[in-house]
Amino acid sequence: MTVSAPIPSTSVRTRFAPSPTGYLHVGGARTALFSWAYARHFGGTFVLRIEDTDLERSTPEAVQAILDGMSWLGLQHDEGPFYQMQRMQRYREVLAKMLADGTAYHCYSSPEEVEAMRERQRASGDKPRYDGTWRPEADKVLPAIPAERKPVIRFKNPLDGDVSWVDVVKGQITIGNRELDDLVIARPDGTPTYNFCVAVDDWDMQITHVIRGDDHVNNTPRQINILNALGASLPYYGHVPMILGTDGQKLSKRRDAVSVMDYFDKGFLPEAMLNYLARLGWSHGDDEVFSMEQMCSWFDLSHLSSSPAQFNPEKLAWINNHYIKAADNQRLAALVRPAMLAQGAEFDNAPDLAAVIALMKERVNTTLELAQAAMLFYRQPMADAELRKQHITDAVIPALMQYAEACKTVEWNKAALSLMLKEILAKFSLKMPQLAMPLRLLLTGQLQTPSIDAVVELFGRDVVQARLNKITE
Ligand code: GLU
Repeated sequence: MTVSAPIPSTSVRTRFAPSPTGYLHVGGARTALFSWAYARHFGGTFVLRIEDTDLERSTPEAVQAILDGMSWLGLQHDEGPFYQMQRMQRYREVLAKMLADGTAYHCYSSPEEVEAMRERQRASGDKPRYDGTWRPEADKVLPAIPAERKPVIRFKNPLDGDVSWVDVVKGQITIGNRELDDLVIARPDGTPTYNFCVAVDDWDMQITHVIRGDDHVNNTPRQINILNALGASLPYYGHVPMILGTDGQKLSKRRDAVSVMDYFDKGFLPEAMLNYLARLGWSHGDDEVFSMEQMCSWFDLSHLSSSPAQFNPEKLAWINNHYIKAADNQRLAALVRPAMLAQGAEFDNAPDLAAVIALMKERVNTTLELAQAAMLFYRQPMADAELRKQHITDAVIPALMQYAEACKTVEWNKAALSLMLKEILAKFSLKMPQLAMPLRLLLTGQLQTPSIDAVVELFGRDVVQARLNKITE
């Protein structure tokens, strides 16, 4: 279902709030892109918030991986990054206020007691939940505080009524308050818990639109109740369905490349990645290829799809090929050079890399393939002896000799080289492949290359002459 999203009357503020526990996941990057594009569309503000309170799982390397991924994609934040671990003072302040105004309370039930309570509820077929032993109510006498037991703080969730919101992706969602527990919002050591921090942050950061994965949809009623208790105005929420792999299953770390930076390593361009991610769950008519400027001018929440999108590597490759063809050759040269050096490329006395790229980039899907293809010009040709025997036959050797001779004086451009080749073919009554194939072998060591005239022109007179000296070796 597509829901028409309200046009904001205040200035739009969106956020991306990753937990730094691994890498920037393609799903995360896609919600970041949607949040970013929505802010850009309305000239609003895009906030980056690092949710690093899970000390066991959060690492500085993972924070860096998120920052690297965002910066590679060009999803520039306007505020932040804010780190939740640096906001502890603020959370304590809000906890104290909630305790003071009665929207939260100290709960001294021990973990064992809570577990026993749940067991009893399960046994009698009830949904396990906190039974409210320590929940203060008018005229209720609370138990005596156990000695030396540190309390948790629980949120005093409304007992009756519903939490309801119009999700900008999924439509109206309503959850009965009876379904929701009195959530623990601070642990015995005073550290705040996840849903509480998110609510306080969205409030403090004046977030107007929360766009996130639908794995968070169960958190939303809890966060809405906390925000209501704080007297905060509520943001709009939009929960985007997950991305499925080619087999229709959830993207899996083992089977699919799920880290955005894997795509950098595999030779994808950031603009291709963004364009592709944009189409996973959002559409603008039938448009498949568009720039981020276009996306920002078109992007709205009404065209987010409520059904899961399927990741299609072939389509991503096709889009990448499109952007490689459109990309500046110098930029591509800088991108492919490291991979070529790693493969032993020799750049001295070799053709200009940007010119080689211009010739090779039509047919490749990634810059890694481009590096591979361009190597043709940067390594010594090593033709297989069998292939040489097959193509450099006595019938063509005189023509090859003549070609080598003519190379000494021909004007060095494609048109003149092409004419020269045709004249030699005519003179020796040969067909194009009979001469082009041995030339390819001698010059590059392989049979598949772009047009022989283009290859010869790019190598330059000196290299061509040196390599054609070896016709009969
Ligand atoms: N930190 C959460 C995550 O990485 C996202 C929280 C949110 O967007 O509200 O899944």
